[in-house]
Amino acid sequence: MLRLDNHPSGRHFLQIPGPSPVPDRILRAMSLPTIDHRGPEFGVLGLQLLDGLKQIFQTRHPVAIYPASGTGAWEAALVNVLSPGDAVLMAETGHFATLWQKMALRLGLAPEFLTLPGTCAETGLPVAWRQGVDAGQIAERLRRDPGHSIRAVCVVHNETSTGVTSDIAAVRRAIDDAGHPALLMVDTISGLASAEYRHDDWGVDVAISGSQKGLMLPPGISFNALSPKALEVSKTAKLPKAFWAWDEIVEMNRSGYWPYTPSTNLLYGLHEALEMLLGQGLDAVFARHQRWGAGVRAAVQAWGLPVQCADAGLYSPVLTGVVTPVGVDADALRRLIHERFDLSLGTGLGRIKGRMFRIGHLGDCNDLTLMAALAGCEMGLKLGGVKLAGSGVQAAMDHFAAHPAPQVLQAAA
Ligand code: PLP
Repeated sequence: MLRLDNHPSGRHFLQIPGPSPVPDRILRAMSLPTIDHRGPEFGVLGLQLLDGLKQIFQTRHPVAIYPASGTGAWEAALVNVLSPGDAVLMAETGHFATLWQKMALRLGLAPEFLTLPGTCAETGLPVAWRQGVDAGQIAERLRRDPGHSIRAVCVVHNETSTGVTSDIAAVRRAIDDAGHPALLMVDTISGLASAEYRHDDWGVDVAISGSQKGLMLPPGISFNALSPKALEVSKTAKLPKAFWAWDEIVEMNRSGYWPYTPSTNLLYGLHEALEMLLGQGLDAVFARHQRWGAGVRAAVQAWGLPVQCADAGLYSPVLTGVVTPVGVDADALRRLIHERFDLSLGTGLGRIKGRMFRIGHLGDCNDLTLMAALAGCEMGLKLGGVKLAGSGVQAAMDHFAAHPAPQVLQAAA
């Protein structure tokens, strides 16, 4: 049997873009004794969590918490507002957008999957998997729907398979400019609490997120942030729903409870995460991730390898996709790096499997843990026979040294 305590010495470097490394503070909070989920203390905890989550999503409206992975919250989002056969507009930005589209098909919806055709001359990879959502394409499609048969536009905020973000405010403007009433649904499973996300300001109707990324928790809980319009539409939507139905959850949440047994100890962890993130301030959290992303990209550029994201305005602050040279199997490299240096990197997924790997820069990391991860990558790339243009480790060190974290600057002032 696999012994989970049989680790090599030192900390494992979990540098995948979620699950992210969990801070010790959160692990300790989760080890407290489980309490009665219908008792008085639990109601207080529940209300605090729901309030804190609203601040994280930047919304005044309800947030539903599910004891499920992000996939469950995807399903919850679709079944609460849509009816069998409904047309939904989705955009192929990568593997997770593709999985969500497949789920829509399985649920009996009629998704239309917008894409950007062609392959990139430099890498041979699909163009659509190196770009964000094209808001102009969405506006154009909605204008060709005068009968308003399209019920929702569903997009991914931070495509975890590619490291490309999408401009959600621009998608909102596209829907409004087309004068179309479709709901805007946004997967921010890997964006929330790392990349800026403004639910109310951006006019999002349903947002989907999960615990194991920016919230720095283990996997196991996920979220739907709602708008008043989404709640209204859910009253008449006809896809079958019971466990996922928002009405009972939102009703019971008013007093801090759930209609079923919630994940008590993960919620302790969420409480701690909210204290950490809100205590630091969301702007500082976003800036921290941007800074880490820039340092990691400096390394990749110094190695002379292409970053998967082809648009510098859309670089993900959460992860960086690194394209390997033609003929170099990115998964073989990842295996080598794992064996030699106990460092886990994200695999390429779907249409780009084997052609790239992903470096996560989220969760419980800092400049030095990232430097260690980059050192592991650089050693592994060389051992794997990849000819590097220069030292990424040196470039990232230079970057971090030249760009002190804001709190360091404040302390020095
Ligand atoms: N959407 C995105 C953008 C993701 O990154 C993931 C998981 O990594 C999912 C959906 C699916 O979530 P889960 O694996 O928690 O079910």
